[in-house]
Formats: sequence, structure tokens, C-alpha cells
Amino acid sequence: MITKVRVRFAPSPTGPLHLGGIRTALYNYLFAKKHDGDFILRIEDTDQNRFVPGAEEYIMNSLSWCGLQLNEGIKEGGNFGPYRQSDRKHLYKQYADQLVATGNGYYAFDSAEELETKRKEIPNFTYNTAVRLDMQNSLSLSREEVEKRLQENQPYVIRIKVPENENIHIHDEIRGTVIFNSSQVDDKVMYKSDGMPTYHLANVVDDHLMEITHVIRGEEWLPSTPIHVLLYRYYNWENTMPKFAHLPLILKPDGNGKLSKRDGDRLGFPVFPLNWTSPETGEESSGFKERGFLPEAFVNMLAFLGWNPGTEQELFSLDELAELFSLENIHKAGAKFDFEKAKWFNAEYTKKLSNEELAALVNNNLEIKFGPIDADYLKNAIGLVKERLTFSHELETNFNYLFQAPTAIDAIVLSKINGIKDIFVLDNFVETLNSISLFEATEIEIKLKEFATNNAIKVGDLMKFLRVSLVGELSGPTIPDLITLLGKEKTIERIKNGLSQL
Ligand code: GLU
Repeated sequence: MITKVRVRFAPSPTGPLHLGGIRTALYNYLFAKKHDGDFILRIEDTDQNRFVPGAEEYIMNSLSWCGLQLNEGIKEGGNFGPYRQSDRKHLYKQYADQLVATGNGYYAFDSAEELETKRKEIPNFTYNTAVRLDMQNSLSLSREEVEKRLQENQPYVIRIKVPENENIHIHDEIRGTVIFNSSQVDDKVMYKSDGMPTYHLANVVDDHLMEITHVIRGEEWLPSTPIHVLLYRYYNWENTMPKFAHLPLILKPDGNGKLSKRDGDRLGFPVFPLNWTSPETGEESSGFKERGFLPEAFVNMLAFLGWNPGTEQELFSLDELAELFSLENIHKAGAKFDFEKAKWFNAEYTKKLSNEELAALVNNNLEIKFGPIDADYLKNAIGLVKERLTFSHELETNFNYLFQAPTAIDAIVLSKINGIKDIFVLDNFVETLNSISLFEATEIEIKLKEFATNNAIKVGDLMKFLRVSLVGELSGPTIPDLITLLGKEKTIERIKNGLSQL
């Protein structure tokens, strides 16, 4: 029987999703789609101290903005729910108890203060095979003493019993075999005195109960994997143990260490998909969405941070990415984040939009800023500058001259063509425009040249003057194109204004 691929994205709701987190979600999604499998969202909120209100909603909104549709999750439901670990609390105790019953775990009564004292006494103290018999636990204490403490309801945790000096082999789909010696692994707490499981226990139990086939997660979880592999062994679940794939880090642009929010703040780019305001500090962090990124461009850029299809092609839709995606093509080395490249992706996707689609995206904001805009005019204006856009919101800023007369005209340019003042006769220019039967660029260009010759104005000077009058500076589409768009009236108004400043 072929098992259906089932993968999960299992974030802890401790804040906004960093680029690395959303990339983990994306790779899980692509892998599921590629194999006609299920993509599941499981919220890992067993650490109540780190819970941040709003983070869960933020995670779901981010997935949805990226178009990563879930098969199962908190809102979607599914046959393996509940999908929030705090709602599964009742499930975990029996598994913790089972570890004790089978001799693979033990009760530990050491108080926080006692542990703190040990940490002070012994440098790099770890609760492991070497020290466990010196501690207060059901391996070191007599059976009677343990019974007594349990009866008295003394607080305890349940720890996993890690075997002594054993090489634990992990097969990682990206890294190959990774070996950890069990002496490097401590007897981690599985079940806490507050009645909650720790990440390790809940994560493995849920992966098992939810029939997860592949665990695709960030490489920071690799050191936890030996514990997880031991748990699969202790529960006799080795036959259905998921395959592991640990994803490379996303690095700072210079490759020097992991990309952090601080790098984003310092270098002026977002590291989160959506805006986020910290409920604790009120600190605001910007998101790719609000920065003007199209979700398709963001997702395409993200896919390439640590993976590529092995060809030169860079632009792919989500479906195309899913088609090509494979764990083998994920890199082992960290991926440098490059904001310029991210912008390139956005420019490419902006170009791909039709004028109508772009108009629909920007219409509201433009109208708030510039008042009502005729629908055809807007489409034509967009068509003129689409190739030069990185973000659609640049239409409001860099390209605002399409919707309002320039407020300031480049004085340096004006000073260079000042002589035009005496030979440029507005009435003649208006007459020229009026004489154009077919108001379109080729015809306009011919007439402008005629006008220059007839009025003894150098064509270059005329074009410069027209350009600064219409745009405010020496940039933008060709003059005949601009005049076609603006129409006679607006053109003449702007020229009058230009003349008045010569
Ligand atoms: N809850 C862990 C996290 O926050 C999940 C790690 C895993 O996927 O196993 O990333």
C-alpha cells in the first residue's frame, strides 16, 4: 500500500513568522502538492509562557496571503484534530506515563532551585547519564521514596532516559546520515509539572497520531531529532517514523550569520510576510505585503532561498513550483537573502499583470490621493510605465505626474533652455496641437518636429522643455506618448505652467 504523503507546518505562536518560518511552510506545501498529499497546520502552543496573543491569527493570515492552502488545520478541521496542542492536552499524559512504565523515562523531583545550584556548581551541567543518579529522581531514589513523593503530590517532571554512549543515526533527506552520540543528548523533560507536555513529546506524539510521513523543518531542530528518534523507538513506532528533512538557514545578505529582524531594520527591508505590531511592546515590524510585494512574487522569491530547480528559469507560479519541487534539490548551505533580488521578482510579476489587473490593485489608493480617475485613462497611464515599476504603489509616488501636474519643475534644466522663452509662442503650439487630426503618438511626433522647425527651436531643447513641463524632470515615457495620454487640455495647461517658470 502506498501511504499518502502528509506533512505539517507546526509553528509555535510566539510572534510573527520570520522569512525562515514562512519558507518552511512553503516547502511543506510544495512537497504535499507535488505528491498529492495533505498539508496540515498544527499550532504548537504547549509553552504557555511564550504564548503571544494574535500570533496564531497572524500565522494563518500569512499562509493565506501566500496562497498556501491547508488541507487540515484549526479553521479547516480534519480527521486528525484538534490541531492546536493546548486543545490536545488530555492526550499526552498517557504517553509520558508509558515512558516511565517501560523504563524509558523517569520521574524527576529536582526543584528549579536545586537545578540552579547544580548549574552553578558544575560548568555546562547537563542532566544526562553521567549525573542522573546524583539527582532526585525515580532512578536514584528508592521505590518507597518515589511512591511517597507521588502520594504527597510533590511536583515532578518526566524525563526521557537516554541510553549511554550510543550512536544515534538519523537519515536526513537533505543532509544524508547524521550521527549523534547519545552522550551529547540530555535526558530532556517530556512532561512538565504544570501538566503540559514539552515540545519534544507533543511533537512526536502528534506527528505519529496525525500520520505525518515527512517532517520538513528548519535546521535548528536537527539537534532535537535524536530525542525524537529515541521516542519513536521507545513507543515502538519505528515502522511509521516520518522521514526528516532539515532546511538550511536564511542568512544575512553578506552571508554572515542568520538573518534577523534587526538586519531588516538596519538595512531597510522586511523579514516578515505581513505587518506585525508586538502586543507586548507595541513595536511595529513591516511586512512584505504592506511593502507592496505581490504574493506570487514573494512566494517565488522565497522558494529560491535554499532551493532551485536546476535550470536557468526563475519565474514560476505556485503550481509550477509544486510540479518541480523536490527535497533533493534543497541546498545544505545557508541561503543569503538578497532584497534587490526580491524586488526584481516583484518587478517581473508586476509586468506580467495586465493593465486592468494593475488598475484594480491601485485604483483606490490613487483616487484617495488624486481624486476620481477615468478607468480608460488609468489603464493607458499604467500601460505607459508598467515596464518601469518595481511596486505598483510607485504610481502614487515616482509616477504621480501621470495623475497630477508636476508641482516643482527642475530649475537646472529650465536654466539651460531659458532661451526658449522668447521663441516659444503658446498660441502657435496650441494651433499645432489643434491641427492634429489623429491624436496619437506618431502623428504628434511629426507635428512637434514641424513646430520646432517652424519656430526655429532646436528639437532637443523643445523636447526638454516639454518633458520638464509635463513631468517635472527629465524622465518618463516619450513625449508623444505622454501627450497622447494627457490629451490637449492637460498638455496645454502644463506647458503654460512651464512657460511661466522660464
Ligand atoms: N514548534 C516548532 C517550531 O516552532 C516546530 C518544529 C518542528 O517542525 O518540529 O518551529
